[in-house]
Amino acid sequence: MTCKDFLLLYSAYRDGANPRLTAAMEAHLAVCAACEAHDQAVRRGVDALRREVILPSDDFVERLDARLASGEDVEESFRPHVSPVVASAMAVLLLALAVFASRRPAMVSTAAAQVDPPSVARPVATAGIPFVAFVPGP
Ligand SMILES: [Zn+2]
Repeated sequence: MTCKDFLLLYSAYRDGANPRLTAAMEAHLAVCAACEAHDQAVRRGVDALRREVILPSDDFVERLDARLASGEDVEESFRPHVSPVVASAMAVLLLALAVFASRRPAMVSTAAAQVDPPSVARPVATAGIPFVAFVPGP
């Protein structure tokens, strides 16, 4: 299992419904310090949220202000990655779909104009059963 796999499967692991997944994830945790740190951070967060009152540490505000003032760039642990080539291809496809969609109503109205109008049945009253009959309209 790779660290990427671990992060992708982490929520399912936390649910604890799959014993095979749990065994694989715990085997990875035993050999990977980075994922172990991630797991411990999440566990601490979940434990904190389960308590009624969350209290920041005494120096929290001071440390937060210092980090904000430093302009520190914190890298996300799991950033989404989209290839520039794929992103460009998707942009071209989206543009082509937009052009196609903008022309499509004209094609539909032309095709609809070529269809014969539907014939509407005209009800005719009769003296006997079934009392009303339908004949092709004018
Ligand atoms: Zn790992």
